[in-house]
Amino acid sequence: MDSQATKDLEHRYHQVCSQIREHAGTRAAPELLVVTKGHGPEPLRALFSWGQTSFGENYAQELIAKSEALSDLPIRWIFIGHLQSNKIRKIVSVASEIQTVGSLKQAEQIARAARDLGKTPYPVWIEVNADQEEGKHGCPLDAVPALAAALAQNPELRLRGLMAIPPSQFQDATTGEVPPLYQSLRQLADQVGEGQLSLGMSGDLGLAIRAGSNLVRIGTAILGPRQV
Ligand SMILES: *Cc1c(COP(=O)(O)O)cnc(C)c1O
Repeated sequence: MDSQATKDLEHRYHQVCSQIREHAGTRAAPELLVVTKGHGPEPLRALFSWGQTSFGENYAQELIAKSEALSDLPIRWIFIGHLQSNKIRKIVSVASEIQTVGSLKQAEQIARAARDLGKTPYPVWIEVNADQEEGKHGCPLDAVPALAAALAQNPELRLRGLMAIPPSQFQDATTGEVPPLYQSLRQLADQVGEGQLSLGMSGDLGLAIRAGSNLVRIGTAILGPRQV
């Protein structure tokens, strides 16, 4: 990265940090996860130097490559991508948390890997398929309570809460009001494990925070368009 690119990145990072505080107002500001898919390790190194320690990755290969390139830094890697059975062990070995558990089978595979790797209780989140869209991953809304109850029974897992990717029609500018879907997600998350809600991306940051999100996952607004 040249010095102008570094300056722009720093500006956008601090801008997003202050937007988060503004949207939160008097409530506790959510944690920021910087989503880094499609970007190389250099911007992550810069972000780390400004205090960002948690990064979200979507692909096992990228997660591993970047964690190796940045192995000198105590980064918390969070996996937020689609889980493939044959990659779970590798992901558990590198990532501190997995936010995309959609089924009991996946949860059991994570638990087994965590046990073998001495990483229990391993923090997981249930990904909810928020709009029941075909082709989207995650647990259907109405199946969340049963899955949450099953995961809560597993001493090798630590159930943090609920993660959701709402349909893209929900954008900050469209309306100031918190959509009913966001309110339902907040209420459902209250009943899942530790009651945390991972909600909000570059386009719906404000809505998600006003709905009471505990963790926002921001890529584009900080890093710019993805390179792949
Ligand atoms: C890519 C991605 C994000 C970040 O999206 P932006 O719109 O770039 O902020 C957040 N969450 C998940 C699960 C993602 O895949």
